Amino acid sequence: MTEKGLLIVLSGPSGVGKGTVREAIFSQGEREFMYSISATTRNKRVGEVDGVDYFFKTKEEFEQMIEKRELLEYTEYVGNYYGTPIDYVQKTLDSGKDIFLEIEVQGAMQVKERMPDGIFIFLTPPDMTELEARIQNRGTDESPAIRQRMEKAVEELNLMRYYDYAVENDTVENAVKKVLAIIQSEHLKVSRILESKEKPEKE
Ligand code: 5GP
Repeated sequence: MTEKGLLIVLSGPSGVGKGTVREAIFSQGEREFMYSISATTRNKRVGEVDGVDYFFKTKEEFEQMIEKRELLEYTEYVGNYYGTPIDYVQKTLDSGKDIFLEIEVQGAMQVKERMPDGIFIFLTPPDMTELEARIQNRGTDESPAIRQRMEKAVEELNLMRYYDYAVENDTVENAVKKVLAIIQSEHLKVSRILESKEKPEKE
């Protein structure tokens, strides 16, 4: 019997470096992880590829996905929809592979309701001034959007208490080590090991 994969939710304020940390985790080679590509209605940024970074959708297409219950969670974030297609997540977990969701807090809370077995990790910035600089340096957002993203960041930090783990992104290397350590211990949890052994008898 294959152990079910772990659902790993990585959140943290916009600009904290979730993408960079996740990419570093994916390239470490010790463990294999799958990535849940989200659907969004926001405009593509330079260098982003449809079906790789996001599935870019129109508002109508996204609302159809909601209606057809194709999303595990979704939210409106700074004027756009973002959501996680459920099918890929289910299939990946059933195949025994771990999957990462890189999503904001409102969505993460919906996932927690539906999949309480998930591991909820919150990436924190070393400090807020640095976070603002990172959001501005990205240079792709107009300034009202920068302000909104900063406000969101403060709001999101207040919701950290609902997560299982907080990892400070002081350096990417440190953050990666900590996230991998969390995943390793979650895999060693007796409850998970027993669950995977007990499953065939129940079926
Ligand atoms: P960005 O526009 O910078 O790519 O993403 C904005 C925020 O939306 C980030 O915090 C990102 O993690 C989050 N996000 C990306 N995909 C999803 C998703 O599928 N669901 C939710 N709830 N948030 C998402």
